[in-house]
Amino acid sequence: MAASRPLPRLDNVNRAFWTGGAQGELRLMRCGDCERFVHPPRPVCRYCLSENVAAEAVAGTGVIDTFTINHQKWHPAMEVPFVIARVAIDGAPGVYLTTNIVGSAVEDVDIGDRVRVTFEQQEDVYLPLFEKIS
Ligand SMILES: [Zn+2]
Repeated sequence: MAASRPLPRLDNVNRAFWTGGAQGELRLMRCGDCERFVHPPRPVCRYCLSENVAAEAVAGTGVIDTFTINHQKWHPAMEVPFVIARVAIDGAPGVYLTTNIVGSAVEDVDIGDRVRVTFEQQEDVYLPLFEKIS
């Protein structure tokens, strides 16, 4: 891709999430005390206020919870139309990633589809996108 998407600013809290793709891993923050996943990444557990949160790799699969087809060219690097989806992540109850579904025609995407993470590297960021599991 010639142009870059807008990228998140990395910090010590979100770095594991945005760079786990370098090792092919989808990494979420998880509380070591109440064991719930905390997403988006935060230094303090949103449920029990523990600071004992650390990154943990999850399976990288999930289910499309809801989606929309975007026809608006928000950024020159993004080809339209594309799917913006909310994906419920396997093994991480309560975690939904807002992401893009890639690798299939937009009309082939539906709620309930099983998907798997795939990473798109942009500079030092690995954007977690998802593709359908066929
Ligand atoms: Zn907690």
